[in-house]
Amino acid sequence: MKKGKKLYEGKAKILYAAPEKGTAIQHFKDHATAFNNQKKTIIEGKGILNNRISEHILSSLNQIGIQTHLIKRINMREQLVKLVEIIPIEFIVRNIATGSLTKRLGIEDGTVFERPLVEFCYKNDELNDPLVAREHIYAFGWSNAMELDWITEQCFRINDFMQGMFKSVGIKLVDFKLEFGRLNQNGKKSIILADEISPDTCRLWDALSDKKLDKDRFRKDLGNILEAYQEVARRLNILHEETNIKTVEFGKLRSIKVRK
Ligand code: 5GP
Repeated sequence: MKKGKKLYEGKAKILYAAPEKGTAIQHFKDHATAFNNQKKTIIEGKGILNNRISEHILSSLNQIGIQTHLIKRINMREQLVKLVEIIPIEFIVRNIATGSLTKRLGIEDGTVFERPLVEFCYKNDELNDPLVAREHIYAFGWSNAMELDWITEQCFRINDFMQGMFKSVGIKLVDFKLEFGRLNQNGKKSIILADEISPDTCRLWDALSDKKLDKDRFRKDLGNILEAYQEVARRLNILHEETNIKTVEFGKLRSIKVRK
């Protein structure tokens, strides 16, 4: 598929115009960043794994009636998606306390919540994506009560589904970030899940050992980042023998097998 002009470049992805109006090509890069871009590196093969993992999760969500921007994966690094107006809020869903929540509120790391918690952060790199209240969101016109109620409901549904999916492969879904976008298709307005769901945007712990299988391996210098992402893909049964990508991480030659 022929890529059009670059519409947006983020830290881990690029969005290009696609031939059909209202669609875009989402390209997954190998760049890893943390702490608002203060720490960065390239992890060769990460984009390929995230493309595949995100496709798997979003298409599974589509199958249970959650509308997402994913149309189809088009190659190892790219997906065709619906072009949406992104709501400038990151929706953080938490099942277990860790990360910024424990630092902010002094809650003990690893505390399991009775009910999942949904937090709102204003999507703004310069401000470090600050936590905001509903009142800020209304006051500054980022969204409204009807949209937020609906999205929060979707967050719980997505969390229920993903918790089950990961639990069945021995992984605890600790927390994750979601982004939603407004779609106007043939005069019909809706809000759909956008962006990606991958080990870059989730915290995933091995159910038995609590070993981290996500971007915290990069944030905390735990090493073996690619192996962890590969482990997630392997457990989700989306690694196949058809493609053998040679990649170099920490000077060692590795192979990733991903279905074409
Ligand atoms: P925390 O607020 O503890 O840093 O992050 C909570 C969860 O949301 C983690 O799973 C983290 O990966 C995800 N998350 C929060 N903000 C961002 C972001 O700006 N980019 C990405 N990729 N993930 C985020």
